Amino acid sequence: MFRSIRLQPLRSFKSYSQRFGSTLAFIEAQGDSISSASLSSLNAAKQIGNPIIAILLGSSAKSAAENLQKIDGLDKILLASNNEFDHNLPEYLSPVLTKLIQDESKDISHFITPATAVGKNILPRIGALLDSQPVSDIIKVQDSTTFVRPIYAGNALTTVKSLDSKVLISARPSAFDPVQASGSNSYPIEELTPEVESSSVEWVSENLVKSERPDLSSAKSVVAGGRGLKSKENFDQLITPLADALGAGIGATRAAVDSGFTDNSLQVGQTGKVVAPDLYVAVGVSGAIQHLAGMKDSKTIVAINKDEEAPIFNVADIGLVGDLFEVVPELTEKVK
Ligand SMILES: Cc1cc2nc3c(=O)[nH]c(=O)nc-3n(C[C@H](O)[C@H](O)[C@H](O)COP(=O)(O)OP(=O)(O)OC[C@H]3O[C@@H](n4cnc5c(N)ncnc54)[C@H](O)[C@@H]3O)c2cc1C
Repeated sequence: MFRSIRLQPLRSFKSYSQRFGSTLAFIEAQGDSISSASLSSLNAAKQIGNPIIAILLGSSAKSAAENLQKIDGLDKILLASNNEFDHNLPEYLSPVLTKLIQDESKDISHFITPATAVGKNILPRIGALLDSQPVSDIIKVQDSTTFVRPIYAGNALTTVKSLDSKVLISARPSAFDPVQASGSNSYPIEELTPEVESSSVEWVSENLVKSERPDLSSAKSVVAGGRGLKSKENFDQLITPLADALGAGIGATRAAVDSGFTDNSLQVGQTGKVVAPDLYVAVGVSGAIQHLAGMKDSKTIVAINKDEEAPIFNVADIGLVGDLFEVVPELTEKVK
């Protein structure tokens, strides 16, 4: 008896030649404090399993490195204090990071960044410079080359295996718990003095909204307002007091942002921020698929909407069908 044998297609040479070295983890710092998104991507880096080399770039890199010593599980810290890196311009960061990844003495097989605005800016550039296909916005590490990432605005998950010799990844901050910064280590620190390539791009200024409120991306609770609020005045008079009472960050739908109710940095969704707080209160939000893409992984979702057919109720744990202009002030008083 003959058994038929199906020949497997030959895997690429690259995949056979793949072996694992270290993971270079790009760390975003605000002054000397390490961003919560970077602490999350370090968690993903740990799950990859390689030794971790953290890299800090910018004039505060040295003081930020002291805070990195509090994180267990790293192997080494690289830093470059050039002030050209201060504003995270990808035109300056990407060539330097690419050279480091290529530096054979560093033996780097993986590069990871948080999937933040900065990470989204540098990863494709590094991918192009290395001719490697980045795996972006991962939500799970299956093994050192296999990752899960959402597609179609979060409606499907795809499992991707990277066959590249340099595996380039960005990790979605809300999908990985931040690592604790409570240890006490003395990792070796290597100070780099990279030559910064000149660029036609120059930092001019920034105009940031300053707020004492918890940052939307890392807040434990978020109150989000939609078009149902009808005006900026209503948004400020109803959403802000409820958020204050809950100690919450504020979010908004794109329709609310486009209508001028609030700043576009607060937009949640496919083209805004992706959040997964413990509590997400959606007020006057219909629950369009593009909005759900940014908040449906929240632990508890409360929806207030006068339309009982609104799709937001499909993902809500607690739904309140009613007029937000009556319900929200009452709720705010009760929370207080
Ligand atoms: C490519 C693309 C990307 C997009 N990206 C995003 C994104 O990142 N984030 C995002 O949010 N959207 C995004 N959108 C837009 C999205 O499709 C929706 O248009 C938007 O989310 C709707 O916002 P909304 O729920 O505030 O408004 P609406 O859909 O108009 O819903 C308003 C809701 O308020 C309720 N309401 C009205 N009055 C009251 C009242 N008195 N009391 C209680 N409830 C009331 C209504 O019943 C309704 O359900 C994107 C769209 C596209 C095409």
